[in-house]
Amino acid sequence: MRYKFCPKCRKAYIKSRLEGDRCIYCNGECETLEVKRSGLYFFGYAMMVLGAISAFVPRFMEVTGDSFFVWFGIALVVAGSVFVVVASTAMAKKAVRMAIAKNDSEE
Ligand SMILES: [Zn+2]
Repeated sequence: MRYKFCPKCRKAYIKSRLEGDRCIYCNGECETLEVKRSGLYFFGYAMMVLGAISAFVPRFMEVTGDSFFVWFGIALVVAGSVFVVVASTAMAKKAVRMAIAKNDSEE
């Protein structure tokens, strides 16, 4: 996943395709960093996908206890999104550390 790091703001955030290389906060020059998605990120993502599938099961199939599938699905999506947010925050912190380490070694 690509992150932008602004040395002025000391902030790293996910780079979107639509944005240029300028910081969205101060419009300064940003560095682009490549941070590997963590296992936790994939885990959270998989939970969200499973949750979404589970919530839709009663729409396509005759199952006993449809509300269980729906609530279980919603719970998985919510829990999964929490993992994704936690993992994204950790990845942004890693991007900041990488940028600082890189700049230190260049000076
Ligand atoms: Zn900035």
